[in-house]
Amino acid sequence: MNSNPIPYGRQNITDEDIQSVVDVLKGDYLTQGPQIKLFEDAFANYIGSKYAVAVSNGTAALHLCALALNVKEGQKVITTPITFAASANCIRYCGGDVEFVDIDPATYLIDIEKVKKLLESSPKGTYSGIIPVDFSGRAVNLEEVKGLADEYNLWIIEDACHAPGGYFIDSKGEKQNCGNGNYANLAIFSFHPVKHIASGEGGMITTNNEELYKNLLKLRTHGIVKDTQNYTNSIELAGGIDEYPGWYMEMQMLGYNYRLTDFQAALGLSQLKRADRGIERRREIATIYNDAFSKTSKIKGQSGIVDGHAYHLYIIEVEDRLGLYNYLKSNNIFAQIHYIPTHLMPYYQQFGWKEGDFLNAEKYYSQCISLPMYPTLSKIEQDMVISLILDFLP
Ligand SMILES: *Cc1c(COP(=O)(O)O)cnc(C)c1O
Repeated sequence: MNSNPIPYGRQNITDEDIQSVVDVLKGDYLTQGPQIKLFEDAFANYIGSKYAVAVSNGTAALHLCALALNVKEGQKVITTPITFAASANCIRYCGGDVEFVDIDPATYLIDIEKVKKLLESSPKGTYSGIIPVDFSGRAVNLEEVKGLADEYNLWIIEDACHAPGGYFIDSKGEKQNCGNGNYANLAIFSFHPVKHIASGEGGMITTNNEELYKNLLKLRTHGIVKDTQNYTNSIELAGGIDEYPGWYMEMQMLGYNYRLTDFQAALGLSQLKRADRGIERRREIATIYNDAFSKTSKIKGQSGIVDGHAYHLYIIEVEDRLGLYNYLKSNNIFAQIHYIPTHLMPYYQQFGWKEGDFLNAEKYYSQCISLPMYPTLSKIEQDMVISLILDFLP
């Protein structure tokens, strides 16, 4: 048995990362300083979006997106059951209702044909928006989603937590990076340590829409405006004589404190420099798994090797999933299951969702297992994982 536990995902922190955090800790700003904008600009540049807003985590990013798009009580929003619960929860934070649509069993992504059928079978205006998820790092074809969204007047929040560096090829043959804002109104990312870029906790919203961008900046920090041009109270009420006093600010909407700190932004910025190398390594690892498992019919995987896959997760489906999970665990290998379908969470069952609602998602859940996938996974470690799996299979 190997001595070091092998998790399904883990962060990679270099000396350079550590130094970048130490530098900020020794400086003047622990938060609300210059690292935030540097990280935002570098991230927008990496993804190819016009704007980026750094926030405290991916869930906060989703919440702010739902607020910026005015999700209200009674509004219905579509998402997939195979995702982290936060993709749906952000709608509930604003009082909206979540409508799940089953996955495509070949890609594990929300089934766009089924979304289309749902929209066609409901009066126009029934749904306000859709939250497609680039699950496991495989990009949703947002051009197709946008076609439906335009026809049915839906906004799109792309949950790209698994897919910084991922892309799909559009109908013109062009690469469309996940989160680049060409099709979705807003996209979100997470910098939790299991994701591609780690900042401890952290998140980012990307968009090409200036108005949404400006609103997000306010919502991130209590709804406060600090900009003479946009004050609505008079100078006199503010306590000034012929200009607004230096201390003055206005809270113009109900916002939150969803800020990222400067030392987290510095870590994210330092990690971002290695993002391309990380993706390359993830794709190498995926190729080795693909080759090893192509020899057996006992293992199913996501169909079609996809160019733009960001491989946050490497998932296989096996019949005795529980057996394999426990066998790997007894060998110090900690695979994980992504995800327990959100509609089966006790919280969501109160809205009437139940077993049998989404057969593809439920079948997938009964067989899926996420294998170790992170840039520092060594060849020796991966070979051990592979041989244990092949040994275990009947
Ligand atoms: C991680 C994750 C989130 C939430 O991000 P946090 O930073 O953990 O709040 C949302 N959606 C998906 C798909 C995720 O993987």
